[in-house]
Amino acid sequence: MLVTGNDILVPARAGKYGVGSFNTNNMEITQAIIHTAERLRSPVMVQMSEGAIKYGGQDLANIVIDLARRATVPVALHLDHGSSYESALKAIKMGFTSVMIDASHHDFEGNVKETRRVVEAAHAMGISVESELGRLGGIEEHIVVDEKDAFLTDPEEAVQFIEQTGTDYLAIAIGTSHGAFKGKGRPYIDHARIEKIASLTGIPLVAHGSSGVPQDIVERFRKAGGEIGDAAGIADEDLQRATQFGIAKVNVDTDLRLASTVGIREALTANPKEFDPRKIFGPARDVMSQVIEHKLRVLGSVGKA
Ligand SMILES: [Zn+2]
Repeated sequence: MLVTGNDILVPARAGKYGVGSFNTNNMEITQAIIHTAERLRSPVMVQMSEGAIKYGGQDLANIVIDLARRATVPVALHLDHGSSYESALKAIKMGFTSVMIDASHHDFEGNVKETRRVVEAAHAMGISVESELGRLGGIEEHIVVDEKDAFLTDPEEAVQFIEQTGTDYLAIAIGTSHGAFKGKGRPYIDHARIEKIASLTGIPLVAHGSSGVPQDIVERFRKAGGEIGDAAGIADEDLQRATQFGIAKVNVDTDLRLASTVGIREALTANPKEFDPRKIFGPARDVMSQVIEHKLRVLGSVGKA
């Protein structure tokens, strides 16, 4: 069933488990996400970035909405990193049931102002809103703690921000960064900060940049002819702990990009004469399903729907 983000995330926050919010760009990715969630009785969120909307438009949104409506588990369609009020409104008109307004590049007051505008409009239509406070990105190991603090979400500010905006859930900067390269060694994630923010607030918290970049997938990627540097993601245990502390929505994009490319590369390498798209994109869908299953188990959402 197609539901709002709040319908999925409020129970997750209360039940101390995480919900996977996976980026989609086509039918196979959408099927892998929703069908795996159904098989494991897990609530799930499917998200489209502005880039995905540019690429797939209403056609792609309709695929998600149709699969979600027919799904036997709760599914929300979410706008990832909406850059403006107009963008959020456009997504709502397209049928999204959850939107993110990312005004985190503005100063605090500007962020509040832009977020509140979106919250007022979205709530009037029964749609849930995610916003972001703090700055995600490459928090490198050589940065000293004071500097880290300048980038990471301040707990007191989070309280003010939630009060002043009415946002339904909040993306916080806790050290994770977007992409397949999250630094050398075990990427940093500030569990104490999550716990502090969660104890002062109460709404679902969101972690971006939470791909695990599984080493077996990276290895298969290389073996099938792909080139990738020192890829590293968030360790499963670190993500699991984050959900215990209040992270209810966990964004995953990179892992599915890697998994689909592994499936395609392996299919083409094993069968150079193959040109049936179903024999190329089908295996990609299978590898993505495996990665999604692993993620849902790590997050603890299996059996919650
Ligand atoms: Zn993000």
